[in-house]
Amino acid sequence: MIAEIITDVSAHPVDRPFDYAVPEGMAKVIEPGARVRVPFGNRKVLGFVTGLKEESDVPDSRLKPIDELLDPEPVLTGEMLHLADWMKQTTLCFEIDALQAMLPSALRAKYEKTVHVLEPEKLTGEVADIVRNRRVVAVKEFNERLLPALKRLAAEGTVSIETAVRQRTNIKKEKVLHIGEADRLWEIRESLPKSANRQAELLEWMEAHIGQSLPSKDVMESTGTTRATVKALIERGAARETEEEVYRKPETGLMPESGGMPGPLTEEQAIAVGKIGEAVDDGREETFLLHGVTGSGKTEVYMQVIRHVLDLGKEAIVLVPEISLTPQITSRFKRRFGPMVAVMHSGLSAGEKYDEWRKIQRGEVKVVVGARSAVFAPFRNLGVIILDEEHESSYKQEDSPRYHARDVAIRRSEEHGCPVILGSATPSLESYARAHKGVYSLLTLSERAKKQPLPEVQVVDMREELKNGNRSMFSLALAEAIRDRLEKGEQTVLFLNRRGYSSFVLCRDCGTSVQCPNCDISLTYHRATERLQCHYCGHEELVPHNCPECTSEHIRFFGTGTQKVQEELHRLFPEARVLRMDVDTTRQKGAHERLLRQFGDGGADILLGTQMIAKGLDFPNITLVGVLSADTMLRLSDFRAAEKTFQLLTQVSGRAGRHEKEGEVIVQTYAPEHYAVELAKDQAYEPFYAIEMGNRKRYSYPPFYFVTLIQFSHEDLMKVSETAGNAVRYLSGKLGRDTVIIGPTSAEVARVNNRYRYQCLIKYKKEPKLAGVLTDLVKIYRSSWMKEGILMSIDMNPSTIS
Ligand code: ADP
Ligand code: ZN
Ligand code: ZN
Repeated sequence: MIAEIITDVSAHPVDRPFDYAVPEGMAKVIEPGARVRVPFGNRKVLGFVTGLKEESDVPDSRLKPIDELLDPEPVLTGEMLHLADWMKQTTLCFEIDALQAMLPSALRAKYEKTVHVLEPEKLTGEVADIVRNRRVVAVKEFNERLLPALKRLAAEGTVSIETAVRQRTNIKKEKVLHIGEADRLWEIRESLPKSANRQAELLEWMEAHIGQSLPSKDVMESTGTTRATVKALIERGAARETEEEVYRKPETGLMPESGGMPGPLTEEQAIAVGKIGEAVDDGREETFLLHGVTGSGKTEVYMQVIRHVLDLGKEAIVLVPEISLTPQITSRFKRRFGPMVAVMHSGLSAGEKYDEWRKIQRGEVKVVVGARSAVFAPFRNLGVIILDEEHESSYKQEDSPRYHARDVAIRRSEEHGCPVILGSATPSLESYARAHKGVYSLLTLSERAKKQPLPEVQVVDMREELKNGNRSMFSLALAEAIRDRLEKGEQTVLFLNRRGYSSFVLCRDCGTSVQCPNCDISLTYHRATERLQCHYCGHEELVPHNCPECTSEHIRFFGTGTQKVQEELHRLFPEARVLRMDVDTTRQKGAHERLLRQFGDGGADILLGTQMIAKGLDFPNITLVGVLSADTMLRLSDFRAAEKTFQLLTQVSGRAGRHEKEGEVIVQTYAPEHYAVELAKDQAYEPFYAIEMGNRKRYSYPPFYFVTLIQFSHEDLMKVSETAGNAVRYLSGKLGRDTVIIGPTSAEVARVNNRYRYQCLIKYKKEPKLAGVLTDLVKIYRSSWMKEGILMSIDMNPSTIS
């Protein structure tokens, strides 16, 4: 038998399966979708079986056998193997990247370099000390200093250095004690020596738990015995001990569902649930765009549809944009559907993710709530796939495979014959345009579920504040409103948009800002560590005392970070309890959840944060939302800048007054006249859509045109500009006349980690040849440019082009 195998070798110029011989003993168990270890060149690598056949074009003598079958049960279904093929074609990734993206990281390849000792008697000194009598030793056990010596020993043939696939399936096990029958215990009691008091005590306890199976750990804890005593009784035959698989339990602690159980569905909700339900019943792959203002009860619609899906014995995937949303939303789902729900998000450890994945694979759960990669949940009978906040850019993966969860969801729905629900208060322009054209079915929730009015939004022009002598980062109106809430004991959320507004160190004499030595970008100041950091390459240094250009001492920290706002808040409102939520305070596992719960329990008056608090937050006592800097994103040179600003402001405003108490929103900006700011004020999606579509049409951007971004990087500026130029020439010869190629141009951040970056943008309406032409370009890249040190990446649907 022959197996077709996709190997974990992305440097190969051709991306195709290779044939391997299946050893006889393996033939009965091997199946497509299983992982294997195979020889490739002089290495051992991980591979996926994509097909089995009887004959190969490769002559028998050159056919290598599979080394080891890693999964007796395949980890990927046939559907997943097809999906990987489709991802390869639509995103131009390596098939191996697509396959690996579908699995939890615990199942992805890990390699380990090992030293195999061939002639132990020849080893001396430190190397011999480390090796002792072992035959195989991990390279990482050796000090770096010894690497040259190892290399020499390998050259002499005393040792060989090999790369091996490390297979850690990472299943957690627990010892379980199975207590024996009464007769047996009785016999033991008779023969127990008088001095064995401890054993006698434990035996007595066992007699009260005859025939039961209990975790050994629990037995020792509740009886106060030691492992030695337990072992002694096991040896006498009083009990048996086994190792059993257990799941790690991700931090639960349900967040309270604010507002309690909702009443009957509103008319609009009922219509939505009805129409989607029909598609579920008919097994129809229809995509619904559920457009509902914030607080209109979209989540309730999802849950009713899921209930229906579960009643039919089918499964559901719910995608939520990112970690900030999970604590509140997952507990809502868990409360409704109990142990049927698995949760997958980036806050879980690799082991916990693997456990959740196994529950899905074994059919022990029927619903998964998770971030982007949960779209690959290995369900076999899907009844619905839901993307909440479908406009979120975190649904797009930014490195290979550059897939969009929305496209994968729709693709899977075709395979399973089930509907997809795209929900949002501010749908992406692309999705709304498709709904207009009838490609998606539009469902609208125009009112808030509890008929609360949308919050009052006041826009404050910060230029006026400055003119009136207010140099603070808080306008008079916002400061006044915060004071008012503090007096009333109500809560405030302050939102700082950090993108494009970093905190940097500037010389007041010559205007120089401290730059990263490796990248063309200013370093960001981190107060907690008193250091400057590059967010692109990770470079770190101490804050200089003098300007590196003019040696002036007037060099200081500028810009607005959350830490600075916190200090200012403390100065203005010393009595206020402030919680800060940003990348620095949420690095620890479970920190999001803890901070949110603390705020929800009334543990603070003000929640100050970045992007991550814009969504999902739903507490009854929030009556004021302040946006400190509404327009910072508008300054980025990105065709989606206005759309993102509108979405963010609408989302943030939606946090206020979701319950009985009315809400107020204050938006501070330097660009109050911008349509994205003006229209977000009234959550006026339709007018915004109309204006923005006009602009996209005028400048030939999506959804009128498709765009593909190709980026190049190299340490040598001339080399990268020359290669980018060659690529553009190649493409313009092959693509249609209506297709526009912009570039090559230098990327917005022109140098990262000492590599210069160039890019070109392809804009097209219809270009059936594009995928083929780009695939050929990738071949040129892999067979020649890559060898010269060029890195090239292609994004068929970039979420940002800066
Ligand atoms: P969205 O997801 O659109 O922001 P949610 O589903 O979170 O909205 O609903 C907002 C609030 O309204 C929640 O507290 C929810 O329990 C409540 N709610 C939803 N549907 C109804 C309903 N039909 N009647 C009363 N309250 C409802
Ligand atoms: Zn200076
Ligand atoms: Zn850098």
